[in-house]
Amino acid sequence: MSIAPPQPAPPKGRPPVLFPLFADIETLPGVGPRAAKAFAQLNITRPRDLALTLPVGGVLRRPIARLADARPPEIVTLRLTIDRHMPPARKGRPWRVIASDGAQDVQLVFFHARQDWLAKELPVGAARIISGKIELFDGMAQIVHPDLILDPADPPPAPYEPVYPLSAGLTQRIVGRGVAATLERVPPLPEWIDRGLKAQRGWPDWDEALRVAHHPHGPGDLSPDTPARQRLAYDELLAHQLTLALARRSVRRGMGHATAGDGRLRRRVIAALPWPLTGAQTRSIDEIAADMAEPRRMNRLLQGDVGSGKTVVALMAALIAAEAGGQAVLMAPTEILARQHLAALAALAEAAGIRVAVLTGRDKGAARQQVLNDLAAGLIDLLIGTHAVFQKEVRFADLRLAVIDEQHRFGVAQRLELAGKGGAAPPDMLVMTATPIPRSLALAQYGDMDLSVLDEKPPGRKPVATVALPLDEIDRIVDRLDRAMRDGARAYWVCPLVEESELVDLTAAEERFRMLRARFGEDAVRLVHGQMPPEDRDRAMADFAEGPAQLLVATTVIEVGVNVPEATIMVIERAESFGLAQLHQLRGRVGRGREASSCVLLYQAPLSETATRRLAILRETEDGFRIAEEDLAMRGAGDVIGTAQSGLPRFRIADLERQAGLMEVARQDARSLLETDPDLDGERGRAARHLLWLLEQDRAIRLIAAG
Ligand code: ADP
Ligand code: MG
Repeated sequence: MSIAPPQPAPPKGRPPVLFPLFADIETLPGVGPRAAKAFAQLNITRPRDLALTLPVGGVLRRPIARLADARPPEIVTLRLTIDRHMPPARKGRPWRVIASDGAQDVQLVFFHARQDWLAKELPVGAARIISGKIELFDGMAQIVHPDLILDPADPPPAPYEPVYPLSAGLTQRIVGRGVAATLERVPPLPEWIDRGLKAQRGWPDWDEALRVAHHPHGPGDLSPDTPARQRLAYDELLAHQLTLALARRSVRRGMGHATAGDGRLRRRVIAALPWPLTGAQTRSIDEIAADMAEPRRMNRLLQGDVGSGKTVVALMAALIAAEAGGQAVLMAPTEILARQHLAALAALAEAAGIRVAVLTGRDKGAARQQVLNDLAAGLIDLLIGTHAVFQKEVRFADLRLAVIDEQHRFGVAQRLELAGKGGAAPPDMLVMTATPIPRSLALAQYGDMDLSVLDEKPPGRKPVATVALPLDEIDRIVDRLDRAMRDGARAYWVCPLVEESELVDLTAAEERFRMLRARFGEDAVRLVHGQMPPEDRDRAMADFAEGPAQLLVATTVIEVGVNVPEATIMVIERAESFGLAQLHQLRGRVGRGREASSCVLLYQAPLSETATRRLAILRETEDGFRIAEEDLAMRGAGDVIGTAQSGLPRFRIADLERQAGLMEVARQDARSLLETDPDLDGERGRAARHLLWLLEQDRAIRLIAAG
């Protein structure tokens, strides 16, 4: 008899009806410590996890009445009588068992099988249900190592057998038994899905959906489009969106400022701009202004491709704060970018008549103290900085707006934490992201925020002529670069990102740097990489932006937002080693000025099929949103953003690529549920609590508890 492992007390509030699903996995029949370990490899530690692990395939075991009906080679199940055993004549030969359907014989073939086991499983004269792949060998029907040997009294095997993901130490049989026992524990639960939606989609109840999903009858039942799988996916998306909606509400419930400007500063800047705002810019600014004017706290994402003109939108938002007599802060992920924002905004800020200062980790001593004093005294309207602005000593007189130029450095969890900071009335938040991501992913990652999208580029952009060439042609490229540089062109040369280690990449970059410098001369070439002191990097960048250098050799540090409008050539070496989104970002560094630009994707032949497609897509389009959709189609959702760093949730069932539309529905549904039932204590609200417990949305549960 096995002793049940000690169970930790369930967390307070978990509905008792769910307890059996949250017991230890070892409480399932046939699962001992060894199997439990193997399950843990698959992130399955409780029956609940197993219930949410759906079959990834299936095996058709066609039941046949007679051997004559078999169409070898195929997997069949049939009833046979054991005739006789033929032990191997020589060592190393198989053990054969002759079985018959009454009319014909078939050989069951076993290599290295134990004799006592064979005698027990296949006693002569007994009837057995045998399932396995039947083949013809020398005209004789045989089944090598049958998959199933059952007593005719046993329940018959499913004609279509689900196939589960395995790890070392697990077999389909162990998992199948575990699933069967788990399904017996699956209770009916109150319905959390909107009745109308459920009826319209023809979705089954939760427990029924699990049973159906675990019992496919054919390959079609494995599709994410079946009602059962759709429903289970929707459960995950709804739970996630409920969490985000609760987080959003708790942020917005917090006291905010009603910051409404009179437009006087904004009008000055618009008058000073050499071009009109795009429609998307105007729309986004209006959305932001309306949101800031509300007494609730703003929590908004500004999404726009490289070059879509986010900077001026951020400035306008800051001007609203200034018009209302308050302050704004703009946070950039790096020192270079903070200084670049300052450079980009200085002239416009002057036109508006606001005071701007910079604060980064490098500002020290008296200068820093001066900034801190001015800030606290309200003499600075807009502070631009890096993470340094989070420090305690940084105090504002009246901070109304925080703009975060995010570039994917913060995940959902971090952002929510950030939102929780601040005093009695924390500032409005505007997060800018330059990576266009498909809407389904945006909703998953930023569903707690309101969204403004710059989906229109400033007019007059010249397309970037993009070519892909094998690395063998490098000499030709260097010659062409030489000609262009003689005509005054500025170019980036991005070095490969091949190794995991930055040091190895660095060596490659330094080598390329030496080669290009030998060709073009000391003055003309600079190197920047992530390991160099920021001062050196800034100097190299400045030399390239304004000074004598015409060629900037770089590792991917330049990916993040660098703006040198005079640069017109981008060479990306070993382009096949970069992701689509990254290539798009890199290419976005050129095509920013008046001159025509080009991008050379140097690749190492031969290209894999997906690398070929990636490079082809880049040559076809510069539309970041389209590229992002293609990227999503080619990779999993997690890969697109890099799950670990993005804070994008991992779903067990939902597939953000194939079920993209459901995310949108779930978001609407979650928000409207919270509107009609803010405390989740109506009928559907209480059902939704079951869902949150079931899917372990701890954060949501804490947020409801906090009220
Ligand atoms: P992002 O930060 O979104 O990548 P920027 O704000 O740096 O883009 O803008 C890219 C370039 O486009 C800048 O040189 C900017 O001056 C210019 N720009 C921005 N808005 C417009 C517009 N409406 N019309 C023309 N040029 C614009
Ligand atoms: Mg920018």
